[in-house]
Amino acid sequence: MRIDIISLFPEMFAGFLASSIPARAVKKGLLELELHNLRDYSTNRHKSVDDYPYGGGAGMVIGIEPVDKCISALKAQRDYDEVIFTTPDAPVLDQPVANRLSLCRNIIVLCGHYKGVDERVREHLVTREISIGDYVLSGGELAAAVIADAVIRLVPGVLNDETSALSDSFQDGLLSPPVYTRPEEYKGWRVPEVLMGGNDRLKAEWRHEKALERTKERKPYLLNNQDHGSIQSV
Ligand code: SAH
Repeated sequence: MRIDIISLFPEMFAGFLASSIPARAVKKGLLELELHNLRDYSTNRHKSVDDYPYGGGAGMVIGIEPVDKCISALKAQRDYDEVIFTTPDAPVLDQPVANRLSLCRNIIVLCGHYKGVDERVREHLVTREISIGDYVLSGGELAAAVIADAVIRLVPGVLNDETSALSDSFQDGLLSPPVYTRPEEYKGWRVPEVLMGGNDRLKAEWRHEKALERTKERKPYLLNNQDHGSIQSV
């Protein structure tokens, strides 16, 4: 899979790319993640990409021309399944969307900044808009990193134990059951007895029960939609 991120601050991705699962995915050759500085596509002397909003108001707006030039340059090299814009007024990222995106071959993620981007970018160049939550960030970079992370770990082969992504919260419409590791007892706090025994069926039943209980308690709305989060429903 290839992800092209367009940003005014590509250096913000350095730590993310150098560590953990994204770094491993790149090393394994399962992921190409390319950063593009929007400023490189500016057509003016000062390399600026933003301007005052028509009609007045506070804040600067990223213009359509550099964005179009950058996206066109990428599209001239390969086909893209999605051109995603990060924006707080879009539907919030969830596991079904992450599942769907993980099946794409090439995606572009455009990060806004300042007051946002010229609306014509959204009307004519973008195929999908994603928010990462109902709050406003200074720029789309953290949102793009969140989207990339959620998607990358679903690409087959990225996680060592592939079943581990499938047993995460949301994948079967349920939250994950609690997990434990050694020691068996710490300060008198014990690991549930069933997990210490040898009966795999009982352990599986316990995990399912706990997942159900936790979902009912914490995110009951997941139970109203049987399909929600199911990887088969993609
Ligand atoms: N004026 C805009 C906010 C601009 S914030 C509004 O009120 O809707 C600057 C940029 O940060 C946005 O263009 C977007 O790319 C990014 N951004 C901010 N909050 C975000 C969120 N919750 N999810 C995704 N992107 C976000």
